[in-house]
Amino acid sequence: MSADPYIWLAKSLATIHRADWYRAVKAIAGLPGTIVELEGKQVINFASNDYLGLAGDERLIAAAVSATQEYGTGSTGSRLLSGHRPLHGQLELAIATLKQTEDALVFSSGYLANLGTIAAVVGQKDLILGDRYNHSSLKKGALLSGATVIAYAHGDIRDLRLKLAEHRANYRRCLITTDSVFSMDGDLCPLPELITLAQEFVCMLLVDEAHATGVMGKTGAGCVEYFNCTGRELIQVGTLSKALGSLGGYVAGSANLIDFLRNRAPSWIYTTALSPADTAAALAAIQIVQQEPERRDRLFNNAQYLKQKLSSLHILPSQSPIICLGLASPQAALTKAQQLQQAGIFAPAIRPPTVPTSRIRISLMATHTREQIDSLAAVLG
Ligand code: PMP
Repeated sequence: MSADPYIWLAKSLATIHRADWYRAVKAIAGLPGTIVELEGKQVINFASNDYLGLAGDERLIAAAVSATQEYGTGSTGSRLLSGHRPLHGQLELAIATLKQTEDALVFSSGYLANLGTIAAVVGQKDLILGDRYNHSSLKKGALLSGATVIAYAHGDIRDLRLKLAEHRANYRRCLITTDSVFSMDGDLCPLPELITLAQEFVCMLLVDEAHATGVMGKTGAGCVEYFNCTGRELIQVGTLSKALGSLGGYVAGSANLIDFLRNRAPSWIYTTALSPADTAAALAAIQIVQQEPERRDRLFNNAQYLKQKLSSLHILPSQSPIICLGLASPQAALTKAQQLQQAGIFAPAIRPPTVPTSRIRISLMATHTREQIDSLAAVLG
């Protein structure tokens, strides 16, 4: 046995390198937007989740600056102790109004919202059935809860029904979890069918609207609105960090759910409240989401335009602004991402273990121009 208890780190890193799974950060300079400076070079940005182009919007910046001047940089404590500010309440009201739910609760990130909510609503006597392609935060939240966790095949209602029929009766509560827009594929969960099954088997249903809020539905309320399911009793989770251009997460649902989470969600109770700047920027973004629906129209026109241009390539099924080009191996995806970067285009390679098969993930923004999309299509084609 080696005397160095940390020796395994270098060995594990070597294994990660050998598999072409190694990842490293890339620094981006300047404001977020469709053109960014990546490693000293201007590139067209197809790697951002800033779908509506709001993260660099002057109105969000002004709101963040003014909240910082009024309330300071940090919230100094957890919400239940000294960190609660009127701004948090205003943001929660704005989210509940957008989602048409009784109440909402903001967390310090979407990841923490999923961890805390799942760990609060189910425990050791309970069952979680989650889509196999769910985001890491849903999967880790399920583990943290101590419930029995079973994955069902991606988007497969028949498989979910079989698993519910086999296992549901053996557990106290059951929670079904799913992304609404799948973050690394761009397809949608079959929400109406999930709601019907949840009702039939007396299950709670948690929908992660991280990539849908601000993007899907007529008013930008998400896939729940897109599928005409507004008003159904659900646990809606999401983030303030994608289309809303800020940082933080939220849960929206019934007054009882939110009240319970304020008393039982550890990642909300025991963490510092969202900063004034992030809170104010998200609040400004929700107003823009509601007042400027044309941003969503431009976003979906851009997605449609790119899909048409790439129709002869292996594009994964998508009903959202996330469009993925399937590739045969991690190495092929890395090579393609490098080619793109050399041609002045930033679109990342996504590889296992994040996804089962390698791909280039393209996320469109409302602010991309046709010329920028043409440039991307020319290099991919
Ligand atoms: N859920 C999904 C589906 C996501 O894609 C993400 C972010 N990648 C999260 C949750 C976590 O959100 P946040 O970045 O706010 O922690």
